[in-house]
Amino acid sequence: MSKKRFIAGVVCPKCGTLDSIMAAEDTEQQVLLRECVECGFHDRMSTVVNTPKEIQTRVSPDVDTTAKQEAVQVIKILE
Ligand SMILES: [Zn+2]
Repeated sequence: MSKKRFIAGVVCPKCGTLDSIMAAEDTEQQVLLRECVECGFHDRMSTVVNTPKEIQTRVSPDVDTTAKQEAVQVIKILE
């Protein structure tokens, strides 16, 4: 289980109690779980930061060597 800790200065959106919200971060599901110890209110927030993906423009320089070998064999047969 992930560690729960109180979030200081946060008011419960349901019962309005100050400093009654506990938070636990679920690193596997990448969510932040919040729970009110007074009224049982709970919700979850995604901790995933949406960053724009880098477009990969790098072209592979790999040469298909098998194709060359096949070409050589064809030439030998023709001789
Ligand atoms: Zn509450």
